[in-house]
Amino acid sequence: MDFNYSPEDEEFRRELRHWLEANLPESERIEPLDPIFEESEESWETRVEWHREMHAGKWVGITWPKEYGGRGATLLQQVIFEEELQRFCAPNLVNSVGTLMVGPTLMRWGTEEQRQRYIPKILSADEIWCQGYSEPNFGSDLASLQTRATEEGDYFVVNGGKVWTSDARHADLCILLVRTDPGAPKHKGISYLVVDMHSPGVTVRPLVQITGASGFNQVFFEDVKVPKKNLIGEKNRGWEVAMTTLMFERTGIGLHRDYIQSARDLARLARMVTRDGRPAWEDESVRQRIAQFACEGAAIKYLALRHLSRRLKGAQPSSEGSVTKLFASEMMVRMFSFAIELQGPYGQIVHDTRYAIDRGKWSYRMLSARSLTIGGGTSEVQRNIIGERILGLPRS
Ligand SMILES: Cc1cc2nc3c(=O)[nH]c(=O)nc-3n(C[C@H](O)[C@H](O)[C@H](O)COP(=O)(O)OP(=O)(O)OC[C@H]3O[C@@H](n4cnc5c(N)ncnc54)[C@H](O)[C@@H]3O)c2cc1C
Repeated sequence: MDFNYSPEDEEFRRELRHWLEANLPESERIEPLDPIFEESEESWETRVEWHREMHAGKWVGITWPKEYGGRGATLLQQVIFEEELQRFCAPNLVNSVGTLMVGPTLMRWGTEEQRQRYIPKILSADEIWCQGYSEPNFGSDLASLQTRATEEGDYFVVNGGKVWTSDARHADLCILLVRTDPGAPKHKGISYLVVDMHSPGVTVRPLVQITGASGFNQVFFEDVKVPKKNLIGEKNRGWEVAMTTLMFERTGIGLHRDYIQSARDLARLARMVTRDGRPAWEDESVRQRIAQFACEGAAIKYLALRHLSRRLKGAQPSSEGSVTKLFASEMMVRMFSFAIELQGPYGQIVHDTRYAIDRGKWSYRMLSARSLTIGGGTSEVQRNIIGERILGLPRS
């Protein structure tokens, strides 16, 4: 891989930096996973406002084709985009299900009418989306899902429930996987619907996580009428559509997070806390552990770049993404657990307490990092994929 950026990419970076400097004042910058922000009431509103500003500057959905409101940016420019947003500590955009998953899926499977109907409001965040895949008993084994849709005239009537539905509380629309042919083999009787979350019969209950935030929800569907024109792809062939969405989800999960920067932040913490009356940083074994995290962070960066390089040469996202996802998510859990260990008894203090070090962000990060090892396919499932599809081990 050539590590130099082309003049066009450098120009893209300059334009974005210039825009961010002009539109994101210091006072509006936010440290990633700052517990005070993440759990606050105004966090969602702040992000919606920021999303709208970014949209006005044409910085949402940048890799989408121009005819659908994107910039036709390359994958490498998408990486530059994420790097710069991190560098500027920009708030996260909202509507990630819409922009990362639904938009690209509609471009592959939707009719022109469906694209025209949904795509502009995905970009502007005038309609927020959620993803109704997982059910209380079916997450990893998604194809066994039980939420049913039966046909009545021009409608499907949906009954069942979904769980872990991120952002459902704010959502206007949901991509919902339903069983439309219970007699067919499990992958063959599933359909992919767009459901209006304001329809009668939809109930959303927020679930409070171990961090105290409530990003997840349980969603119940009771005799919910969904117009047939909301079917994406063919009836009973929704599994193929669902896999397209998942592929975009997995390739979008935190691959370009700056892990080396996190190791630097850990080094700063080690200088601040003490062990036996001296800064922990003076302990050789502490420095050794932090150096190890920095090396692993660099390895993740180059793994992600190798994957990117293949995609730039035209390859589809492949099972190799599982290696990066597995290693990066597990590394985050280890790194944040070490941060807690470094703080000694202070590591147990929760974030809204006066004595919490760094406003308690390390314990918040340690608790929330677990979710990275679950969402988009658990670590065990990633190991199965690596074993079977990359290493060629026999299927169990
Ligand atoms: C941050 C986050 C956001 C999410 N957002 C959404 C969302 O918006 N919409 C949505 O639909 N879902 C969402 N999910 C749910 C997520 O997709 C599921 O949690 C995930 O697929 C695992 O399913 P499960 O929780 O039912 O666990 P299960 O599948 O019940 O797994 C339980 C345990 O068994 C292990 N296991 C299962 N099968 C195997 C196997 N074949 N081999 C070895 N071990 C196995 C798992 O690794 C796990 O440890 C989200 C989850 C997280 C953490």
